[in-house]
Amino acid sequence: SAAATAGPGRVLLASPRGYCAGADRAVVTVEKALDRYGPPVYVRQQTVRNAHVVRALERRGAVFVGATDEVPEGAVVVCPEHGTAFEVHAEAARRGLTTVDASCPRVTKVHLEARRFAREGYDILLIGREGHEEVVGALGEAPDRVHLVGGPDDVPYLRVADEGRVVWLSQTTLSVDETAVTVHALKARFPAVLGPPGDDICYATRNRQATVRRLAGICDLVLVIGSRKSAAAARLAETAVLAGVPAAHLVDCAEEIDPAWLRGMSTVGLTSGASVPEILVAEALDRLAAYGFDDVEVIGAEAGGPEWRPAGVAWLGDDRGF
Ligand code: SF4
Repeated sequence: SAAATAGPGRVLLASPRGYCAGADRAVVTVEKALDRYGPPVYVRQQTVRNAHVVRALERRGAVFVGATDEVPEGAVVVCPEHGTAFEVHAEAARRGLTTVDASCPRVTKVHLEARRFAREGYDILLIGREGHEEVVGALGEAPDRVHLVGGPDDVPYLRVADEGRVVWLSQTTLSVDETAVTVHALKARFPAVLGPPGDDICYATRNRQATVRRLAGICDLVLVIGSRKSAAAARLAETAVLAGVPAAHLVDCAEEIDPAWLRGMSTVGLTSGASVPEILVAEALDRLAAYGFDDVEVIGAEAGGPEWRPAGVAWLGDDRGF
């Protein structure tokens, strides 16, 4: 083998990793739309980010578009799992499009919370990233009531109607660690602030971050397979760095793994973002093996412990969970 290291290296493979239930459901939704309506079915690009899966769906007649105005009048369009801004739906209706909604129930939950709190007269402090579909969707639920909070630095500038009626909500794919810091700042500024009825950061995101945090403590290097366009994948790499791993890299596929990163390393952690199919993980393992990292061990979120899950919520039967 083309071993780049002295002696065999170890790979610690995160579990859970990869596809979350929401991303899986989005792909299945596109397939069902193709079955029901026949090709072509137009798909908003944000719906399925992985080039591999995109190609497979294109072969079946899916056409990926950047925006709804690229879809011909009267056609079928699938909207992404992280929600769709209200104007997009309005535009689709105007142009006679048949809209198939692939929203993840976890994202819908946040949007419904935003709508309900706005109706009850609350100002909503939405922790999230500007421009993310999910945030745009939540802002669309109550434009005059929802305030975007990018991080603790934004907190001093927030203006609300009534400091006694504020609630914070968050995007589902944020870093658990960074969000905790922002919530802390919000509580200091608005002592009466309410939190979401259930956690907004979804279990898929939490479990993957908890596992990568553990990897970061026991690896020399963490590799995250995922698209640079995926918020969740970027948060995984950030979480590894925050947890103290000397180096972390986000790669789209196995070929992007630079052998120079492996030099002098003995233990490499490997995980994947929430829209990454297992084949890409298998290819990354092959490439690492070719460089002498052929001893693979699967690592969960806690040593010997069960996966994190919220109290009182039924598990959905596999380790993906919403
Ligand atoms: Fe749903 Fe969470 Fe997956 Fe987003 S990351 S699609 S909220 S399960």
